[in-house]
Amino acid sequence: KLYNQVQDLKGSIRVYCRVRPFLSGQSNYLSTVDNIEEGNITINTPAKYGKGRKSFNFNKVFGPSATQAEVFSDMQPLIRSVLDGYNVCIFAYGQTGSGKTYTMSGPKDLTEKSQGVNYRALGDLFLLAEQRKDTFRYDVAVQMIEIYNEQVRDLLVTDGKIRNSSQTGLNVPDANLVPVSSTPDVIDLMNLGQKNRAVGATALNDRSSRSHSCLTVHVQGRDLTSGTILRGCMHLVDLAGSERVDKSEVTGDRLKEAQHINKSLSALGDVIASLAHKNPHVPYRNSKLTQLLQDSLGGQAKTLMFVHISPEPDAIGETISTLKFAERVA
Ligand code: ADP
Ligand code: MG
Repeated sequence: KLYNQVQDLKGSIRVYCRVRPFLSGQSNYLSTVDNIEEGNITINTPAKYGKGRKSFNFNKVFGPSATQAEVFSDMQPLIRSVLDGYNVCIFAYGQTGSGKTYTMSGPKDLTEKSQGVNYRALGDLFLLAEQRKDTFRYDVAVQMIEIYNEQVRDLLVTDGKIRNSSQTGLNVPDANLVPVSSTPDVIDLMNLGQKNRAVGATALNDRSSRSHSCLTVHVQGRDLTSGTILRGCMHLVDLAGSERVDKSEVTGDRLKEAQHINKSLSALGDVIASLAHKNPHVPYRNSKLTQLLQDSLGGQAKTLMFVHISPEPDAIGETISTLKFAERVA
């Protein structure tokens, strides 16, 4: 018997969109977002993009005033399905500065109220596991990795030495798997992961926007009467910034990074679009990210593509390209 069966998933792929608010000092800006209604977003496009209004439909659109709690509550059934043995992938997509990290982790000065999906998801799993403790015994463990230039690195190392994962093409890299049983455990681990990410960033500034980071939550549940074991896995992915880099302006390492990001984001788009359109061939092999997540994309697995946009007029080009990316996988 499965608990909390995910209702109304309309297939296994959902697409959400979130518009971040203006930041302080931007109070006199005019938003490119014209209107938001449930699953619909309309933006004003300038002459360069065919002046007028463009409308896009997704499963859900969150406006600038949506709280972290509201956003999480719309993702909760999906997250809870992990306890029933489903595999889940949640991707935060968007240009740098659009709010991906805010949604997944929260702002830099984190408070309980501003905690993002990662913390809330784990907290909710612990709560539910506790509620079911008379019938189920759950074990939860997490991994945290980063993919940078198509290389996988373990972020949960305690000696400060970041190792590249030696395995290639496997679904789960040989990264540290750490058992967790409470929200403070999770906060400690996230801090460690963040610290390790920063260590790797010394040579290049703000490396985090140019790598994908993935928090993987492994759940094993044993039915205490039948002894049946259920395994579920959830990947919470904060993707590299989707902005296109002007190839005439960057060279060397920066160009290489941009090409790797481009390639992996389009590979991800291709995989999700193939699944959404039920194509017989799904091109998992075209990037490290899609290879790693292959088991959790397609089949019985559930996917949420959560795209983020910035409201500023000068972001309009990236906003349109993000919405088009999302429309293609919806
Ligand atoms: P990204 O990870 O996509 O580069 P961030 O999450 O770092 O973007 O967001 C950029 C800035 O905007 C940060 O200062 C962040 O705290 C702020 N921000 C993003 N989304 C929101 C939001 N929904 N509400 C308030 N501030 C936000
Ligand atoms: Mg970020």
